[in-house]
Amino acid sequence: MKATAPLWTPPPSMDIEALPAGTWWDAVRAAPAVGERALDILGNETGAVIQDKYGTLYWLVRVGSATSRHLRQVRVLTKPADESTYLGVPPVIWTKGSRTHWRVPLTADHYLTDAGRLWGALAEADRAEYGHVPDGRQLCDHCQLPTSEPIPVDVENGGSDSAVGKATYACPTHAPLYPKRPRPRSLTSAVAAEHEGRS
Ligand SMILES: [Zn+2]
Repeated sequence: MKATAPLWTPPPSMDIEALPAGTWWDAVRAAPAVGERALDILGNETGAVIQDKYGTLYWLVRVGSATSRHLRQVRVLTKPADESTYLGVPPVIWTKGSRTHWRVPLTADHYLTDAGRLWGALAEADRAEYGHVPDGRQLCDHCQLPTSEPIPVDVENGGSDSAVGKATYACPTHAPLYPKRPRPRSLTSAVAAEHEGRS
């Protein structure tokens, strides 16, 4: 179910324009891995989506409809009390390419996304991508500071069949420093590690 709202279009522009969140829409920003999964899950229920050059996705939602929610690697861009948060909005006709563009084009049928549906999809994507949020306070393996958004990272022998599955976490800032995802070690890398061990 898409939220119904009069169609809004960005002011005519030849380039990306920084527009304030909280006026016509709030924006929900999701890191690429979570965002891509959520987009798949939403299917036809998504509204317009902006993708920036890093692959980060931004959904437009009704102002105030998503503000009290929290997920790892997801932010709501809205208008806080005294400041403005801006979103880089590309011209409507930019619908592909590596620069910031409309991943899901803005049309009469695709504008705002229902915040409840979006959050359901993002929560499902978060679980699939990062697993359950661990209990208690977690420290980032890199900076050793507590993080409210613990992203599981692979440090060593993080193979899926290791007996002691003690997870290691990193904060969103440092998670990109680690190998992409905990995954079973491939034969080649296992052999390479063995060689390193002997030398
Ligand atoms: Zn950190």
